[in-house]
Amino acid sequence: MSLNQVLTVEQAAILLKAGRLVALPTETVYGLAANAFDPIAVAKIFAAKDRPFFDPLIVHIADFDWLPRVVRDFPTLASQLAKRFWPGPLTLVVPKNDDIPDLVTSGLSNVGVRLPDHELMRQVLRKAGVPVAAPSANPFGRLSPTTAEHVRSQIGHRIDGILDGGTCRVGIESTILQVEGNRVTMLRPGGVALEEIEQLVGKVEYPAVTPAESPVAPGMLASHYSPRTPLIVVDAIPSTPPWPRTGLLCLQMPDEVAAYSGVEVLSDEGDLVIAAANFFQGLHRLDGAGLDGIVAVRFSPQGLGRALNDRLTRAAHGTKNRAGEQSSSSS
Ligand code: AMP
Ligand code: MG
Repeated sequence: MSLNQVLTVEQAAILLKAGRLVALPTETVYGLAANAFDPIAVAKIFAAKDRPFFDPLIVHIADFDWLPRVVRDFPTLASQLAKRFWPGPLTLVVPKNDDIPDLVTSGLSNVGVRLPDHELMRQVLRKAGVPVAAPSANPFGRLSPTTAEHVRSQIGHRIDGILDGGTCRVGIESTILQVEGNRVTMLRPGGVALEEIEQLVGKVEYPAVTPAESPVAPGMLASHYSPRTPLIVVDAIPSTPPWPRTGLLCLQMPDEVAAYSGVEVLSDEGDLVIAAANFFQGLHRLDGAGLDGIVAVRFSPQGLGRALNDRLTRAAHGTKNRAGEQSSSSS
């Protein structure tokens, strides 16, 4: 990483106050942050990521008492969820207050808000004195960054600096819940497992068919988190790999992998929390290995396995759509 891009907490805060874009570590993935109250700074996020304006951004706060600066109303259920899971990988979608520009929420009257569990990130926010809008620090639709190097190599040239906080602990994005009165809907599975949430608030709605292009949850686009290398999701590892040089992404080391040209085992013990932490890094490595294709083995659909399967399905979607074409290796 070029030295002039690696920031201290103070430098990151100064840049944010000046309306610039900085990549910040969080416990989920690296975020590309801008002052959430500054529409011009927020517009730069969309430009740097090539992100469509209909995809709203999550606002990150440093402390609980910053909430009223972002939200107009925080239902009781949202408070319970925040008390239990914040700081942490949970985003709550609730009515926004007027200071949050429409650009942040893509014109929606709700805002997604989160208190991240990352001390460096929170220090930057406190020093800057403003909440930040911060989607993942990668080009739109691509693999999420879980190290500063992932950020630098994907969009380093389009931003004003990176605060290096090492590897992200959770490794997948936040769980997103919309809270309306007594109703809780999961818009995206993520770093907090559905089971844990339901233990606290009872049944959570999880629309089986995600509203692919709906403005309510555009982050749920069918194609997302995609490597450049074609990827398919399987329940059992094919004994004959589908491509001449095929990579394999799996939870635990299988018996027979000699036919595969690269293997990423996400957790020797089969622990889904560890697998989540290693997930994007494993995919980045396979994607950078010059393979013809990647076979990813579906996870058991419990706990964080649900969020991991969600990422895999979207990562594979682009491949499905360009089936028959040459692998897209242009950058
Ligand atoms: P990310 O790209 O990880 O920052 O996540 C952003 C995603 O959060 C969006 O694509 C939406 O799915 C969801 N989101 C953020 N803000 C809202 C909102 N106001 N209403 C509904 N979903 C939201
Ligand atoms: Mg993202």
